[in-house]
Amino acid sequence: MTETVRKLIEKLARTHSLTEEEYAALIDGRDDEAAALLAQYAVAAREPYYGKKVFARGLIEISNICKNNCFYCGIRRGNKNVERYRLEPEVIAACADEGYALGFRTIVLQGGEDAFYTDEVLGGIVRDIKAAHPDVAVTLSMGERSFESYKALKEAGADRYLLRHETADPVHYARLHPSELSLDTRMRCLRDLKALGYQVGIGCMVGSPFQTTAHLAKDLKFTEDFQPEMCGIGPFIPHHDTPFKYEPAGTLKLTLYLLSVIRLIVPDVLLPATTALGTIHPLGREMGMKAGANVIMPNLSPLAVRKQYMLYDNKICTGDESAQCRACLDNRMAAIGYEVVVDRGDAARAAR
Ligand code: SAH
Repeated sequence: MTETVRKLIEKLARTHSLTEEEYAALIDGRDDEAAALLAQYAVAAREPYYGKKVFARGLIEISNICKNNCFYCGIRRGNKNVERYRLEPEVIAACADEGYALGFRTIVLQGGEDAFYTDEVLGGIVRDIKAAHPDVAVTLSMGERSFESYKALKEAGADRYLLRHETADPVHYARLHPSELSLDTRMRCLRDLKALGYQVGIGCMVGSPFQTTAHLAKDLKFTEDFQPEMCGIGPFIPHHDTPFKYEPAGTLKLTLYLLSVIRLIVPDVLLPATTALGTIHPLGREMGMKAGANVIMPNLSPLAVRKQYMLYDNKICTGDESAQCRACLDNRMAAIGYEVVVDRGDAARAAR
C-alpha cells in the first residue's frame, strides 16, 4: 500500500467523504494490504451501530415478467428462453406467512416490471402482509414507477424501496440499457422515493461491462451525496441468454473493497452481502460481512419458481426450501462469529 492510499483510507474513515478523484485513486491504488486496512476501519465503523448482528430479509421474487430489456439481465423482455411466472397475491401472502414463522421481520417483494402489479394489486398485497403481521417491515423492489404510484404504495404500508441506480454515469447507463431507459428517470424515482419518506436503497453492479474506475468513483460520490439507508452492490455475472453473455464477471476482491468503502461513507448503512457475491465464491457472503456488510437476503420464493428468477448464471440457493436457507445462513454466520437477528433492523438513523 502506498502512503497516498493509506492517507486516503484514514481521511475516509475520519470524514466519510472524499472527492471523486480521491475515490478513483483509492480504487486504482488497491492491493491486499489496503483492502485489509479498509476492512478493519469498516468493521470498526459498523460496530457502534450494529456490532456483529446480521439482519435477515426474506426475499420473495414475485414475478419474472418484465417490460424492460436491460442488456445484463437474464429476465429481460427479449429473452425468449425464460419460462415466465407471476405469483398470485394469495401465494405471496403464504410465502410471507412462512417467512414470518421462520422469524423474518422484513419481507422484500422483488420482481420485474410486470403490469399485473398495479397500485391496487400491489398495494393490496402490502396491506395484507401488514395486517397479518404488523411488526413486519415491507420492502419493495419493483422498479420504476410514478410518484403517485410510490405514494399509493407508501400509503398501503410499504416501508422501504430498493432501486439500484446501476451506474451514476449517464453514458455508462446508456451502454447497459436500451434507449427507453435513462439515468434521469432512475434518479427521478430515487428522489421521489426519498421525498415520500421511504427508507431507500441504491446500488450498482461491480464489474459491469464498460465500467471504469471513473464510473465507480461517481457511484461512490453519489452514495455520499444521496445518503441512502440501504446500498446493494454485487458482482456483475453474465447470463448466457443476454447480449453480455461473453463479458467477464466482476471480481470478489473489488466487490469486497467497495463494500468497505461504502461502509465508511455511510457508517450506519444497511449493506447486504448479496446472493451474487455468494455465487462468485462459496464464502463470498461471509467475506462480505468481514468487509463491512450486515444484511443477508435469503430466498422465500416458492421452490417451484426459484430457477425461473435467474438474473445471472449459476445463482445459488435455487434448490433449497426457505427453512433450509434460514438454517444454512444461521450456521454460516455463527461460524464466523456473527449472529443473524430477527428484528426489523431499520437503519440506525431511523431510530435516532
Ligand atoms: N426490476 C427491479 C428489480 C431488478 S433485479 C428493479 O428495476 O429494481 C435486482 C438487481 O439485480 C438489479 O438492480 C441489478 O443490479 C441486479 N442484476 C441484474 N442482472 C444482473 C447480473 N447479470 N449480474 C449481477 N446482478 C444483476
